[in-house]
Amino acid sequence: NDTVYNFGGNAKSSDPRAKDKTVVGGKGANLNEMAEIGLPVPPGFTITTEECLAYLEKGADFSEKLRHDVTSALDHIETTVGKRLGDKADPLLVSVRSGAAISMPGMMDTVLNLGLNDETVEGLTKVSGDERFAWDSYRRFIQMYSDVVLGLDHGLFEEALEIAKEDKGFYADTEMAAEDWKELVAEFKQIAEDERGGEPFPQEVTEQLWGAIRAVFDSWDSERAKVYRRLNDIPHDMGTAVNVQAMVFGNMGDTSATGVAFTRDPATGEKAYYGEFLINAQGEDVVAGIRTPQYLTKAARENAGADKASMEEAMPEAYAELADVFDLLEKHYRDMQDIEFTVERGKLWMLQTRSGKRTAKAALKLAVDMAGEGLIEEKEAILRVDPMALDQLLHPTLDPEAPRDILTTGLPASPGAAAGKIVLDADTAELWANRGDKVILVRVETSPEDIHGMHAAQGILTARGGMTSHAAVVARGMGRPCVSGASAVAIDRDARTLTIGTRELREGDVITIDGAKGQVMAGEVPTVKPELAGDFATLMEWADKHRRMRVRTNAETPDDCRMARQFGAEGIGLCRTEHMFFEAGRISAVREMILAEDEAGRRAALAKLLPEQRSDFQSIFEVMVGLPCTIRLLDPPLHEFLPHGEAEFEELAKATGHPVEHLKRRADELHEFNPMLGHRGCRLGITYPEIYEMQARALFEAACDVAAQSGEAPVPEVMIPLVATRRELELLRALVDRVAEDVFGEKGTRVDYLVGTMIELPRAALMAGEIAQEARFFSFGTNDLTQTTLGVSRDDSARFLAPYVDKGIFARDPFVSLDVDGVGQLVELAVERGRVSRPDIKLGICGEHGGDPASIAFCEQAGLDYVSASPYRVPIARLAAAQASL
Ligand code: ADP
Ligand code: MG
Ligand code: MG
Repeated sequence: NDTVYNFGGNAKSSDPRAKDKTVVGGKGANLNEMAEIGLPVPPGFTITTEECLAYLEKGADFSEKLRHDVTSALDHIETTVGKRLGDKADPLLVSVRSGAAISMPGMMDTVLNLGLNDETVEGLTKVSGDERFAWDSYRRFIQMYSDVVLGLDHGLFEEALEIAKEDKGFYADTEMAAEDWKELVAEFKQIAEDERGGEPFPQEVTEQLWGAIRAVFDSWDSERAKVYRRLNDIPHDMGTAVNVQAMVFGNMGDTSATGVAFTRDPATGEKAYYGEFLINAQGEDVVAGIRTPQYLTKAARENAGADKASMEEAMPEAYAELADVFDLLEKHYRDMQDIEFTVERGKLWMLQTRSGKRTAKAALKLAVDMAGEGLIEEKEAILRVDPMALDQLLHPTLDPEAPRDILTTGLPASPGAAAGKIVLDADTAELWANRGDKVILVRVETSPEDIHGMHAAQGILTARGGMTSHAAVVARGMGRPCVSGASAVAIDRDARTLTIGTRELREGDVITIDGAKGQVMAGEVPTVKPELAGDFATLMEWADKHRRMRVRTNAETPDDCRMARQFGAEGIGLCRTEHMFFEAGRISAVREMILAEDEAGRRAALAKLLPEQRSDFQSIFEVMVGLPCTIRLLDPPLHEFLPHGEAEFEELAKATGHPVEHLKRRADELHEFNPMLGHRGCRLGITYPEIYEMQARALFEAACDVAAQSGEAPVPEVMIPLVATRRELELLRALVDRVAEDVFGEKGTRVDYLVGTMIELPRAALMAGEIAQEARFFSFGTNDLTQTTLGVSRDDSARFLAPYVDKGIFARDPFVSLDVDGVGQLVELAVERGRVSRPDIKLGICGEHGGDPASIAFCEQAGLDYVSASPYRVPIARLAAAQASL
């Protein structure tokens, strides 16, 4: 296998590896592809990710083959450009760029202008005829190389530049003349030499090149890259590719520029070119927020009321060419592209393209629009939207009617609203968030070192940087609202305060940011419910058309049911009845029932609960008429309902007339060492049948009443929890049937209903064939099934689960995403055995996993009939179910 692939110039490789992202990284693959479709790409070569892994494995050493192959690949660049690296008269300069298979913006390092030294800078001056440009490039190179390769403190160089500008009374870098840069280069070299204990800045160009390659390889293992991968579920064993590419220069005066662009608006999805550029600058200047960039299009500039010319106005020819490239790239990749370009003396060069990161809102709009334009098919549109991203859209936004005390307005960098306490650094953000505070991270600008703080924060506010600054890009990726470039914000890090215009705020004060408008408000602004029409509705409709599984909800109040129906729920998959027992005013009857000495005592207390429970069911059934409603009979261990503390016992004594001592004795008798495996679930129904009788009666009476009122009945599915044996279900099913017949007789009417069970014990899964003879349906209770299969208590697992995931023992938290390998086998087995004895058995899942896309994909494969998720997860489940069946 080749270690290196060439692109640009005459490079042609029929080897599919040259365009395989896992081999040459995303950047390399796309540079290769752009060159091949005829776009202007500076020539270069890509070192494979395999070489990176080999290097790291060898303890940071290059293979002989790589050394050899890089030399001949360099020749490809030199021949194409007609310049040689290190040539004193006419030097080739290159960039050395990292590029992993999955893009990690800003996470790894790049070096520009490599190949400059004290001699080649003179040659560059002569051939370019531009001394200022040559020395500007040299000082940039020293600065970047010292930081990225030599590991020196970049603050030292920035400081020296600031002081130089101050001394001369300059405001912008562009005011620096050739002589000024020359002086600064001397100073930079001195700083580097001092910091390296007397060793001078490397002048030898091949040493420079290998140093930079080494640094890119090493950056794969840097702390911040590791953190980013952990947060984004990117495996650690992929490695990064290295791209070495001929430099093109955006800093050759006023006909040169550099920019970042999106083929459509990544925040809203609007079909409009979107981006920023800077005249007489190099690539990193735009992202780093050193100068405030200019708009790409005239429309955007006018819209923002900015006066500096847009690219469309300042460089109409290069702009027109760029617009053509946008269209070509969208057609080619059939997706919104995120692009880096440079204009060198009027000529356009493409430096990068990739599918652009987008907000959830934009993802929806792009998918629906592109399907409408015929760029992609409806099925593809469904696959384009990450179901979990919908979460961003389903949550409230700022109430447009509510008063806003606007402190300032910056750029609308990432939409959504967030309120929280001001924090001024990433560590504080994490600390406060961990103790339960909502925080807004406020920074001059962010850098990759701030990632953990951005993650911990509800939203991000920066004083500097544009729409494509680090803060903006990362916030959009994370789904955090962000306002960037709010230049009225001045931070005093020592005093831990900030001033916005004339207002002074301190760390801990609450602000609200509106990332869609760019506004920053004092205090907390109230929110309103999300908009469920438009693109959202369209995509959901498509998803519904393509999915096989039904989607129900886990809900136990009429409000939850209504919400879930708005979100598209097609029934209830799990209604827990125990929460109704806790409701105020009822708990004493529940306690009286539990602590009663005998059946008669229990029945007396249950009689008080019957009307309450009936009205609960009634109000739920009213919302769910015509739909299946799985009602689970009482499940938790009784002791959960017991009184705690003296006061509660006394209160109960008063209510029941039993002495406190008597109640306490009964409570002691009910104590369990391991309640999760104790007297709970169907075991309660077996030992105290009167409890389930009351619940069944309440349920059937409510169903008959609602049917009589509305002419349409819900379809109750009575679910018996924690069954391990067929006989348990046989007994309890008979009980439910008997109560149903009693109620139907009394009411003179009938409703359809089913009796079934949860599969949440390994034995139940194994015995599913027998159990199915009694069960009309199975609902996989994967929370308990995970606990009982893994022998891990969900409530006690927090202490060891995170380390387990970090060490790769579990790929993900098994309570969040189903353990498909283990627990999944039990599900598959139960499905198979259940269907053998009852071919039309209904199968669903009601654990937390019913709202997790990866688990939903498994459910589809296992052939379940439906998944059930909490109301807010219903749309996520609808989309995930559609994706799973495509
Ligand atoms: P990142 O992945 O952080 O964006 P890149 O490797 O893309 O890093 O490069 C950083 C910046 O340098 C980008 O703006 C890019 O366009 C610019 N750049 C990279 N290579 C070249 C080159 N050969 N000529 C001119 N600019 C370049
Ligand atoms: Mg880039
Ligand atoms: Mg359970």
